[in-house]
Amino acid sequence: MINRRNFLKGASLFTLGGLVACNSNGGNAVAEKAVAGAASGVKANKNIGLQIYSLGKELYEDVPGGMKKLKEMGYKTLELAGYKEGKIGGIDMMEFKKMVEDAGLVITSSHVNPPTREYTKSNLNEIKEYWKKTADDHAKLGVKYLIQPGQPKTRSLEETKYVCEVFNEAGKIVKAAGIPFGYHNHEMEFAKVVAGGTESLFGRRQKGDVIYDIFLAETDPSLVFFEMDVYWAVMGQVDPVEYLKKYADRIKVLHIKDRAVLGQSGMLNFEQIFKQFYANGHQDYFVELEGIKDRTQFEGVKGCVDYLLNVPFVK
Ligand code: MG
Repeated sequence: MINRRNFLKGASLFTLGGLVACNSNGGNAVAEKAVAGAASGVKANKNIGLQIYSLGKELYEDVPGGMKKLKEMGYKTLELAGYKEGKIGGIDMMEFKKMVEDAGLVITSSHVNPPTREYTKSNLNEIKEYWKKTADDHAKLGVKYLIQPGQPKTRSLEETKYVCEVFNEAGKIVKAAGIPFGYHNHEMEFAKVVAGGTESLFGRRQKGDVIYDIFLAETDPSLVFFEMDVYWAVMGQVDPVEYLKKYADRIKVLHIKDRAVLGQSGMLNFEQIFKQFYANGHQDYFVELEGIKDRTQFEGVKGCVDYLLNVPFVK
């Protein structure tokens, strides 16, 4: 009697036979179809996320329709932007979540910034209140990460260390709501600061410590993780792969960004970036797109996902 297991075994042998035939006679439609099917299966499983900031105002012309387009393109997860007082881009958060889920996508992260860039002892309570409310709202939403993308003022070593204290406080509050707190960089975090300084400065010969390195050293690993934007790291004159190797346990999420559409500028070695990121045991990343002029934002994010679907080093 042929049971299901034996049948499948037979079926795979048949497919293998087809592949052998393909090699020997140079062409076999059945085998080619099987190979194409396997390749599209791999593509369909890729865990590709998008930071919705990439869509700009186009997103809000038709959110449910836009979500369906993203799903069809091959995106799986979203990182939100535009949170304010329980709303995303003016839409109630839970309504927004329903639109996302109706399209078969999942919200896994959200970018949020406290109301001030200057952190002082006198506004610490205001910042803490902001994190409490924001963390509670996002706990209801059910995100995996809550991330600050904006750099507070860090003009001196002392100010940078104080920012780290505030990050640790934010991390405690967000953690209490059940969500890990992360920090996302631009390029200025790779400038240097000195004790008693009045501004951060770039330069090989510049004295002082790199702000990002201070953030890594002075924040508590149990309270603060890092989402590295690899494009801005390169713009900050550092190698993101070196950072991924050195801080494997701290950099848990990536922003996959290029000067415009992914893979076109040649400025980033995405293969080495993904290889190291996976070797570190991580898998969550979000495409981010800025700087396109020759097409719509939706066309741009389609160009980005097509790149990731087609390169073999992205799982
Ligand atoms: Mg980014």
